[in-house]
Amino acid sequence: MEPLVPQTDTSFLSGLASFHNSPHFSDVTIRLLDAFSEPVYSLHAHKLVLSAHSQIFANIFNEELQQRWAPVIDIHDDDPTAFLAMLEYMYSGSYSIPASTSSSRSSSPTGSAEVDISATDLIFHTRLHALATTYAIPTLQNLCARNFALASTPPKSPFPTPTWFTAVELHYTLLCPSSSLSSLMIDTLDPLSLAIARQIYSNRTVLLRASLEARAMLRELLVRFPQLGADVTGEARRAWKESPRGGTLIACKGCRRWVVACVAEAMICWRCGEGVVGGIPNEARDGDKK
Ligand SMILES: [Zn+2]
Repeated sequence: MEPLVPQTDTSFLSGLASFHNSPHFSDVTIRLLDAFSEPVYSLHAHKLVLSAHSQIFANIFNEELQQRWAPVIDIHDDDPTAFLAMLEYMYSGSYSIPASTSSSRSSSPTGSAEVDISATDLIFHTRLHALATTYAIPTLQNLCARNFALASTPPKSPFPTPTWFTAVELHYTLLCPSSSLSSLMIDTLDPLSLAIARQIYSNRTVLLRASLEARAMLRELLVRFPQLGADVTGEARRAWKESPRGGTLIACKGCRRWVVACVAEAMICWRCGEGVVGGIPNEARDGDKK
């Protein structure tokens, strides 16, 4: 993992990391409660560190100061493992994937567990990104998005895997409620949406030639989450502006709407998920039918 701070700051960072969940100078205890309001974890934290990272925490502590509450903060409904990783990040600038995630992945009944090994981490990066969005920590959002892309970008990793589809579905499912919480994110694309859009757009040929199952999953995602198609279209527009290669308007055979297809380039309609045969030479078209 690349350092997130200049190297001169490493002694400060390692000093800071030693305060992670330490009672020394701790001025707040964070209790994570499960659905039955039973505490799952109790953690020593420092208001200054949490407030420096997150305005949401700063607001919580401000309210607490005004109302003279006990220095214990109860957190309901948040994902405990992701929350622990978020605190780890706040003190150390990085996070680790909990062991429970790795043990659950090995219990996969199929032999494909080995292939999908880093992809299972995608779910964790996605959950942590959602939490970072809720608590308005953009640097952690960026790190999660980068780790997500690293763990699922070909040729280093297989693409697209079933877990990748699950992670994308999870991301867009979690995006709706959290984006209304954090008003900062409304107009700008969050880092994980951007990473996914880039991944899909730059691997569109791979997706177009993927198995029927994978194509069906992509189509389902595009239909269920129009925002996904809009994000990929935005990425396509950005890429096109960077190096215009021309293009022609073609009616999509799936939804009959007009889409821009580049010459000699296979593409997917991001509105309905159908394959659009653009200006592809005839022999390539015949080859696809075999
Ligand atoms: Zn279409």
